[in-house]
Amino acid sequence: MKHNFYAGPAILPEYTIEKSIEAIRDFNGTGLSLLCISHRSKDFDKVMNSAVEMTKKLLDIPEGYSVIFVGGGATTQFYNIPFNFLAKKGAYLDTGTWPSGAIREAKLWGEVDVVASSKDKKYNYIPKNFTIPADADYFEICSNNTIEGTEIFEDFDSPVPLISDMSSDIFSRPVDVSKYAMIFAGAQKNFAPAGVTMVIIKDSFMEKSVRPVPTLSNYKKLAEKNSMINTPPVFPIFAALKTMEWIEAEGGVKAMEKRAIARADRVYEVLENSKMFVPNIPDPKDRSRMNITFAMKPEYAELADAFLTLSKERDCVGLAGHRSVGGFRASTYNALPMESVDALVALIKEFEAAH
Ligand code: PMP
Repeated sequence: MKHNFYAGPAILPEYTIEKSIEAIRDFNGTGLSLLCISHRSKDFDKVMNSAVEMTKKLLDIPEGYSVIFVGGGATTQFYNIPFNFLAKKGAYLDTGTWPSGAIREAKLWGEVDVVASSKDKKYNYIPKNFTIPADADYFEICSNNTIEGTEIFEDFDSPVPLISDMSSDIFSRPVDVSKYAMIFAGAQKNFAPAGVTMVIIKDSFMEKSVRPVPTLSNYKKLAEKNSMINTPPVFPIFAALKTMEWIEAEGGVKAMEKRAIARADRVYEVLENSKMFVPNIPDPKDRSRMNITFAMKPEYAELADAFLTLSKERDCVGLAGHRSVGGFRASTYNALPMESVDALVALIKEFEAAH
């Protein structure tokens, strides 16, 4: 068994893989592959409707919100948000590489107020005690910083519409959706293969588009047409639905949260007590449950390559840190079994004992 710690595309439940294989061979007994049918067919229509309904059910989304599935990745939302909603000023919390990408795109459309940034310490903490400007058109955060390994677990009260990039922690905890005007998530970390992005958006917020936008950037039109203005990413949406079915069967997002805490606690504890390794994020309250970043202590720095070599021999794959950060990163998404966490812990202990 391979232990998959890739940050994304990343591990998916066996259930999703098996159901996908079945559907690629013969979708719903139609005698046709899921890859070769019309997105306007009745069978796919059902998939799209179920994916929307399951998202609402799993995240307990209140009335007055729409769920949309779009192509273009989460990065497309970085510019679509200011394009639609930045009339005068967008407010942002700069907690890492991805939110700073969103900030860069927003500057194309108007004034940007970075209310706080953790760039001064290589994004190794979540800024606290910032004030959200009441005159901003919206306030955008990134709940999980996939590259740096920090996470925001709180659903903030915000005086202006709150938007969160939940690409790498969606479905890993219950979320109070009523606090958000919009949540978006690229699928390829926690619930589907690459190719689709989920957008959860408050209906009253999407009415507020501040300038005319092209059809495919228009949230209202996308919602009205049930994400089918053009051809949607059929296969990733099907796989997303299968992962959502799996999450529900496993006990929902509450169960996912419990498992995420158990996985992360176990790894961080070993890192905390290690003579050789150290977690990148000093404050336990800011540490991501989804992307655990760590490094060799300086006195062992020359052993980094040897650790990655041993990790491959022990079937632990995807442990190299993002190229911009270095060190190591263990991504511990929803589908990662405790068995893989045990393998990582054993790997760390074996390596320490050998050196
Ligand atoms: N936001 C976050 C938090 C991410 O981890 C990623 C990952 N790649 C992105 C945005 C960009 O996503 P995409 O590649 O789907 O555009």
